[in-house]
Amino acid sequence: MSNVLIYTENFDGKFKKSTFEIASYGAEIATLLGGEAIALSVGNVAEDDLVQLGLYGVTKVLNFANEGYANLDNQAYASVVASAVEKENASVVIFSGSTIAKAVAPRVSVKLKAGMVYAATGLPKNLSPFTVPKKVFHGKAFADVVIKSEIKIISLAQNSYGVVENPCNVVVEPFDVPANAPFKTRVTNVEKTSGKVLLNDAEIIVSGGRGLKGPENWAPLEELADILGAATACSRPVSDEGWRPHSEHVGQTGKIVAPNLYFALGISGAIQHLAGVSSSKVIVAVNTDHEAPVFQAADYGIIGDVQKILPQLNEAFRKFKNEN
Ligand SMILES: Cc1cc2nc3c(=O)[nH]c(=O)nc-3n(C[C@H](O)[C@H](O)[C@H](O)COP(=O)(O)OP(=O)(O)OC[C@H]3O[C@@H](n4cnc5c(N)ncnc54)[C@H](O)[C@@H]3O)c2cc1C
Repeated sequence: MSNVLIYTENFDGKFKKSTFEIASYGAEIATLLGGEAIALSVGNVAEDDLVQLGLYGVTKVLNFANEGYANLDNQAYASVVASAVEKENASVVIFSGSTIAKAVAPRVSVKLKAGMVYAATGLPKNLSPFTVPKKVFHGKAFADVVIKSEIKIISLAQNSYGVVENPCNVVVEPFDVPANAPFKTRVTNVEKTSGKVLLNDAEIIVSGGRGLKGPENWAPLEELADILGAATACSRPVSDEGWRPHSEHVGQTGKIVAPNLYFALGISGAIQHLAGVSSSKVIVAVNTDHEAPVFQAADYGIIGDVQKILPQLNEAFRKFKNEN
């Protein structure tokens, strides 16, 4: 039993970037174990998109497209994953660090009596005992965790491994599990976020805090996001005030993001905010207060009024884009 099962996620039929990352990661673990990397795709994903997973070392895709699951939730999907693990004799199951994974993975863990590591940061350091590095205390420290159960579940912190090409021949196989278990909850309504770029997938995030003073001042921030092809985000008080939707709130109690570039505009950099953004590769902060804690975390800092700095940034980035 040395196969690795990868739980893929898609948005409107297109795989998320985090899926290619966990495919790359799962494929490497399969190689270490001498097994195969098998992906489970849930929902409607076109064949052309399914085979993309072969670029990252996946040799088989189980295509689960049972429409009977359309209004079921994480309990039901946990059953599907557990059935796939049994069918493929998988010893390791990989999830991303997404909200969906947070709901599905622990349920699979209970079903299969499998030990689980959440927020893993890299490949297992040891296969016996199976030892996985992970973040603790919101990324302030690291720990190595030993999983002793026969089946092991890993949820990988986003952007901690990267997307690694490793082209393989891949077969797509239909997979089905009847939706007849007595699931206790059902989805009655789905509201999609309106942003152009998915926050969790974004390479660049432009985020605003209370320093922007009010929702009427967000236009230049959105303009910067447009120029850079970035997602927009905000601090918690901003969404609590209703200036921006809750789906944009990042931090300890919001989304955990890890883009290549994070703009913190008029954000103080409280520890609870940084807990959600400190894995960003580069942080740029704009703040009037040179003692704001955000400057301790930032790679680049601009001391000044965001209302004056933003139009200058927009002009400079637009010029740069036009010239390149
Ligand atoms: C249990 C708990 C969980 C929490 N979870 C989260 C979370 O997930 N995410 C989160 O963000 N917060 C969270 N918070 C709140 C957090 O502690 C801070 O209160 C919050 O992050 C502050 O938001 P802010 O930086 O936008 O606002 P403020 O703290 O009011 O900071 C505004 C900043 O803007 C600067 N500024 C003012 N005017 C300008 C200007 N014209 N130009 C430029 N800069 C200017 C100020 O100098 C200041 O640094 C949590 C708190 C608790 C207790």
